[in-house]
Amino acid sequence: MTGIIMILTVMIFSIFLVLGVVSYFQKRGGKWIYFTLTALSLIALVFMLFFLNWDLSKPGQNNPNPPVTETPDNGNEVPGKENPPEETPPSENPTDEEPAEEGPKDEEPKDEEPTNPPPAEPAKIIVPENGTVDYKVGAGDTLWSIAQRADLTVAKIKEWNNLTSDTIFVGQILKLYGKNVEPPPPQEPPKQETPPTTEPSVIITNGSLQQKEIALTFDAGSDAIGIAILDVLKKHNVKATFFLTGSWADKFPNYAKRMAVEGHDIGNHTYSHPDAVNTNTNLFVQDIIKAEEAIKRATGVTPRPYFRFPFGTYNAAALKAVGGAGYPYSIQWTIDTIDWKQPSVEVIISRIQSGASNGDIILMHIGGINTPEAVDRVIPILKSMGYNLVTLTELLDL
Ligand SMILES: [Zn+2]
Repeated sequence: MTGIIMILTVMIFSIFLVLGVVSYFQKRGGKWIYFTLTALSLIALVFMLFFLNWDLSKPGQNNPNPPVTETPDNGNEVPGKENPPEETPPSENPTDEEPAEEGPKDEEPKDEEPTNPPPAEPAKIIVPENGTVDYKVGAGDTLWSIAQRADLTVAKIKEWNNLTSDTIFVGQILKLYGKNVEPPPPQEPPKQETPPTTEPSVIITNGSLQQKEIALTFDAGSDAIGIAILDVLKKHNVKATFFLTGSWADKFPNYAKRMAVEGHDIGNHTYSHPDAVNTNTNLFVQDIIKAEEAIKRATGVTPRPYFRFPFGTYNAAALKAVGGAGYPYSIQWTIDTIDWKQPSVEVIISRIQSGASNGDIILMHIGGINTPEAVDRVIPILKSMGYNLVTLTELLDL
């Protein structure tokens, strides 16, 4: 139907145009009527083309409804015939001196200009809340206008369609999502794990020289020959610090547990007591970690942050490795009782008593046979000298 009306309009337009031109050249009357009718039919044609949105280039899809429901009516159109009338009026222009022809033509655009083309096509793009729309970009579309019409944001449309700029092209398909099915924002690429800043472990030899505090420390390596030390400490109500190897904790979990329960500090003394300087750094770290697991298993507490190097030997690489393993404090000592060489009780007492000073860290061993008795006797002496016997945590105010 629309095609027939269009063709009729074109024909009427052509007839009036010819009649007008003929009467103009033959200087007959009535040319004004013909030209007016020509202009009116042109207006009608333009109206149909623009306002009814008839698309001449696609004769089969003039119906604004989806093409699937194409009606037979639409097949009547002959696109070839519809083009000439558009071109004929301009060809008239050179011949006419009269403004009649141009008047309506000029008025047409003038009427449209103030209103701008966009308002003529602000058809809403309906995006169902639970659905998506594949929107095909048309001529004159911008991301902004599409966003407006679909009640979305430009940013969202760009995000969904991986657009890096605002440029879109006619025919491009844009995915639009309803708010209930909106895809999650694109995953940030996994951040590169920054290598852990390996602050080297700090060597600590003593506590404050201003405070009359001394820390008794005991390394537990392979045997439990001097485990009576726990009874001695309990008797004097003194808290000390034990550095356990992992193998010792595995071997004597009950003693290890008792140390923790009775309020002593527990530190890491590696698993198998390797010499840090002569051991591959990775293996050394593995040994520390293995010890930590064993100590936790036995005592229920972490040995961090205290570490003690086997044999007291270390270098810069070892300190870095220990720090990286989670032990900021590598504990050395001020007084070495050398009790593991099994000196007499008197010798041990003498070494402690003669060397005692503020902030001392005293090194002893669970493997010292005479150590429990020596400690039992030296505690009252140190107390009488005014010293407070403390754990490392207290000594270092941590
Ligand atoms: Zn040791």
